[in-house]
Amino acid sequence: MSVYNAPLNDMRFILTDVFKAHEFWQNNDNLSHVDMETVDMILEEMAKLSKNVLLPINRSGDEEGATFQGDGVVTTPEGFKEAYNQYAESGWVGLGGNPEYGGQGFPKMVTMLTEEMIFTTNQSFALYPNLTVGATLCLNAAASEEQKKTYLEKMYSGEWSGTMCLTEPHAGTDLGIIKTKAEPNGDGSFDISGTKIFITGGEHDLTENIIHLVLAKTPDAPAGSKGISLFVVPKFLVNEDGSLGERNTLAAGSIEHKMGIKASATCVMNFDNAKGWLVGAENTGLSSMFIMMNYERVTMGLQGLGGSELAYQNAALYAVDRAQGRSDTQFQSPEKPADAIVHHADVRRMLLNAKVNSEASRCFAMYVAKQLDAEKFSTDPEAAQIAAARVALLTPVAKAFLTDKALEATIDCQQVFGGHGYVREWGMEQIVRDTRIAQIYEGANGIQALDLLGRKVARNDGKYVTNFLGEIRDYIDSMQADHGIKQATLGAADTVEELTKTVLANISTRKNEINGCAVDYMHAFGYLCYSYMFAMMVEAADGKEGEFYTNKAKLADYFVGRVLPRIDAHAQMVQAGSDPMMNFDLDYFNVAVS
Ligand SMILES: Cc1cc2nc3c(=O)[nH]c(=O)nc-3n(C[C@H](O)[C@H](O)[C@H](O)COP(=O)(O)OP(=O)(O)OC[C@H]3O[C@@H](n4cnc5c(N)ncnc54)[C@H](O)[C@@H]3O)c2cc1C
Repeated sequence: MSVYNAPLNDMRFILTDVFKAHEFWQNNDNLSHVDMETVDMILEEMAKLSKNVLLPINRSGDEEGATFQGDGVVTTPEGFKEAYNQYAESGWVGLGGNPEYGGQGFPKMVTMLTEEMIFTTNQSFALYPNLTVGATLCLNAAASEEQKKTYLEKMYSGEWSGTMCLTEPHAGTDLGIIKTKAEPNGDGSFDISGTKIFITGGEHDLTENIIHLVLAKTPDAPAGSKGISLFVVPKFLVNEDGSLGERNTLAAGSIEHKMGIKASATCVMNFDNAKGWLVGAENTGLSSMFIMMNYERVTMGLQGLGGSELAYQNAALYAVDRAQGRSDTQFQSPEKPADAIVHHADVRRMLLNAKVNSEASRCFAMYVAKQLDAEKFSTDPEAAQIAAARVALLTPVAKAFLTDKALEATIDCQQVFGGHGYVREWGMEQIVRDTRIAQIYEGANGIQALDLLGRKVARNDGKYVTNFLGEIRDYIDSMQADHGIKQATLGAADTVEELTKTVLANISTRKNEINGCAVDYMHAFGYLCYSYMFAMMVEAADGKEGEFYTNKAKLADYFVGRVLPRIDAHAQMVQAGSDPMMNFDLDYFNVAVS
């Protein structure tokens, strides 16, 4: 079984030393109820639950998987129901929920850390409550008062769970072409009919009711994404007194057999004149759903971080123990036939790549979480607006860059095990398989990159980026620490500025420029973000005594020397533009005729 110890010291360092969360909470009337002592307790409790309850069913959950029993019945693997009950009864689902409806009102800066821990120890399990949390965010923002009263409390308590039903067999990225129909009944309800696929937690045995948030089209809806409406469609209808009523006409048709996250039920959901109710105004469904999707996108970044962290912890332990070959510089264990592989520089390279990723991505997720909290809770409208712009710019990076780098980290750590990483025994191949999905769902990473370069950069003429670069440069100017990360970050900022100018200059003449350059632009941008995070960590550690702090500077050295130079390769690829892929005729790819 994998081992895990929650990196609480790293989490506290980021929360308090780097981002000064306590000051942020005290200076914000809407968050003044949050204090470090309580947060510490929350983190300690989640560390225990993750390690003692979720991790032990991670491997068995993968082996047993979720199962479709026929007749719409889906069961989760052994131990999941007990673990879920414990999770829900301890109040974890509603930790960040709206207190008016029974939530506990903790900011994202706190919930992101608890989410990291559950994703680290059991990615499949984490998806069940996280989809519910996403659905409550959407309902809280877009639903009527009556709908909030009907659903939120039971969802925060974990008695009911939530889903997000977007994808259809022919419509994944392009939701504008969905076919699911919503016919008005004249009494405020609609009949929803259609098939949704790949629905996470669409059916399972963990909760007594499942609240589906479904995208569908009303009869006269405009074509494309402007004609999408959002509906709340419960598995069991809810009586006026809040008790469960009759079974709605919807059911799971089957579940998918997948590469990873096997204990998470990924369902085909058939809606057959199921009763649903409009959430928000007609034809505004996509923007309401984006509230959920944006939240989920940052959470997917945390899924990646979880995979990266678990892989690192296990690989580091293995590398200290596994003895192969002699160290190039010294024999560390002359009394033994071989030295531990951790002495080899190349093994350290793999471990440090993963460590860099875990530390930088946790810090970046916390940075985005702070912006999310400032947007949501700030009493100063200007501060809230600046934060909202940062959230818009950085959400696709938090989703796509963090999950791309996470998969790399899990593979590096698997490699540390040699052949033992490829076989099941050590659990490393499961981490790789589980983490892979985070690059695909919630909008494939290529689409996230398009969102960054197309919507967030090009559409506003680079304004969001310019402001972000200004913030980074001001921060570096203000730093007291004397470290190479300062110059490196300024260089990375110049690179991203140059790339932004190049792309903006080219798009009027080259049609495919955004589509062809987006992923490399996003990677260059992501490395800049990591560099900024290392600058903050170095500054926070500067002058403090102890290895914990001096190691922050050493890890930043590794990042500057061995990771950040990749930004130049991505920059060159952006500069090469889209011609190298668009030069081919269509026939070149039409392998059926060659
Ligand atoms: C395990 C699992 C769980 C899921 N959970 C849910 C869920 O709970 N709810 C839900 O609604 N959906 C869910 N999904 C669906 C998931 O969000 C989609 O699979 C994903 O958004 C991609 O859609 P697609 O599979 O149809 O791929 P497609 O849209 O067909 O895309 C295929 C490829 O083409 C690329 N591409 C598409 N359009 C463009 C473009 N314009 N420019 C450049 N490249 C493009 C994509 O990046 C991708 O690489 C889940 C999927 C899986 C596998």
